[in-house]
Amino acid sequence: MQPVLISAAKPSTAAAASSCQTPFLTDAAKLIDSAKTFIFDCDGVIWKGDKLINGVPETLDMLRSMGKKLVFVTNNSTKSRKQYGKKFESLGLDVTEEEIFASSFAAAAYLKSINFPSDKKVYVVGEAGIQLELKQAGISYIGGPEDGDKKIDLAPGRFMEHDQDVGAVVVGFDRNINYYKLQYATLCVRENPGCLFIATNCDAVTHLTDAQEWAGGGAMVGAIKGSTKKEPLVVGKPSTFMMDYLASEFKISKSEICMVGDRLDTDILFGQNGGCKTLLVLSGVTTLETLQSPDNSIQPDAYTNQISDLLSAKKVASA
Ligand SMILES: [Mg+2]
Repeated sequence: MQPVLISAAKPSTAAAASSCQTPFLTDAAKLIDSAKTFIFDCDGVIWKGDKLINGVPETLDMLRSMGKKLVFVTNNSTKSRKQYGKKFESLGLDVTEEEIFASSFAAAAYLKSINFPSDKKVYVVGEAGIQLELKQAGISYIGGPEDGDKKIDLAPGRFMEHDQDVGAVVVGFDRNINYYKLQYATLCVRENPGCLFIATNCDAVTHLTDAQEWAGGGAMVGAIKGSTKKEPLVVGKPSTFMMDYLASEFKISKSEICMVGDRLDTDILFGQNGGCKTLLVLSGVTTLETLQSPDNSIQPDAYTNQISDLLSAKKVASA
């Protein structure tokens, strides 16, 4: 089946742009020249739900032909890198598993980076993506979708046992969150000495359908913050863990990275926290009005309507 293409909003008016501190991207060639690596957020940049955004394949091809390294980063933890690879493939995009960094992978990579003890296990509040990445990393886990149907009968004297060997609770977006999981995670964090509380992301909302915004991973993380009174260690955007990991894994300099995203509080902040150049696209959740609002303090280096605007560099080159 052919992917459905959708177009981003019409170019903004010069009058609207003039009140914004962030300039509209006018010289795509200069931006491309200044970066060796482009990190793209996925939803709202590459696709919207299951629809590819107009001009994406041509843009990625052009950047690759110019020798740029491309990396795709998403806070969505419900899928593993392998599962994301299939999504790219289904949209007709040629992207390898090694180029994809999901927050599910970040959670497993973080635990590996701290040499998480092999006799400890992880309790997962989240979906299959986290479990698949933990498995790939050789880390034992319990919970996740298996606990999705569990109910608690609060009969007098009810006492819940929990595994004393849980050394970390990893919390991500979970469509089957329930009281069992909340209580289990709470017991592990509160009662197991040194148990880590790791969040894949704290996104307030997510775009499960294109009709409205839905409660995001921050809702699940917030519940366990509430019951444990502990702050989680966040491994997804805007935390710099993934950026540091990418820089060291691929041996790239952060000042030569351009982070391209549609969200100010995750993507653009992620780029800025990592010392990268930042480009906001208006093809996702952020409107020009939000960018230019006096309430917004996050200003990217430039903004544009969609990533295919970078194709103008090709026209300059061939002119
Ligand atoms: Mg996005």
